[in-house]
Amino acid sequence: MGATTEVTAKDGDRRLGRRALLVGGAAAALGTAVLAREELSRLWWRLPGVDKPRVAGVVDFRGARWVAASPANYRRADRPADYPVDRVVIHVTQGGYASAVKVFQDPAHGAAAHYIVRGDGRVTQLIRELDVAFHAGNREYNERSVGIEHEGFVEKADSFTDAMYASSARLTAAICGRYGIPVDREHVIGHVEVPGTDHTDPGPHWDWDRYLRLVRRSG
Ligand SMILES: [Zn+2]
Repeated sequence: MGATTEVTAKDGDRRLGRRALLVGGAAAALGTAVLAREELSRLWWRLPGVDKPRVAGVVDFRGARWVAASPANYRRADRPADYPVDRVVIHVTQGGYASAVKVFQDPAHGAAAHYIVRGDGRVTQLIRELDVAFHAGNREYNERSVGIEHEGFVEKADSFTDAMYASSARLTAAICGRYGIPVDREHVIGHVEVPGTDHTDPGPHWDWDRYLRLVRRSG
């Protein structure tokens, strides 16, 4: 987690109907009129110039539970069309799951991650990957990354359960697959490695070798 002073842009979902038409039009322009609905839903975000439809409660990771963060804690965007996504940033909450969700819903907090992984492996999404979450404390890194919080404490090795590693690895594998991000320590990084940060998460007990092995296996 990390505070930032970035400005929030709010523009609501007023043009949802037009967006839906544009998605259909773009697919037709590609000569993919026969594209199955499911295939279209996987591909539409790759189409340039398409203003993406947003449906309340939709998640980017199958099985994630949706809990909306306060719009003050992220900036609405259109990634990867406006900002390429080439990093996953690993965080630790320094507290319990419920308190992390609560602060991410608090507009005064000024920070939130896209996802939280609970000790039992449950994944919650709070911000769409389309949007720039304020999690890294560095504007450029926020714009280019997906942030994943993990319930627990940097100094407590037993925070990081098998279930947490396994489901976080599946999540990171899905993100890397979606954006073509290489699974290595250049691209899957800790908050501690973000330039300018004073945060130490995920800390010395986070097993990077194990994690990357699991991500590669999940991919
Ligand atoms: Zn952090």
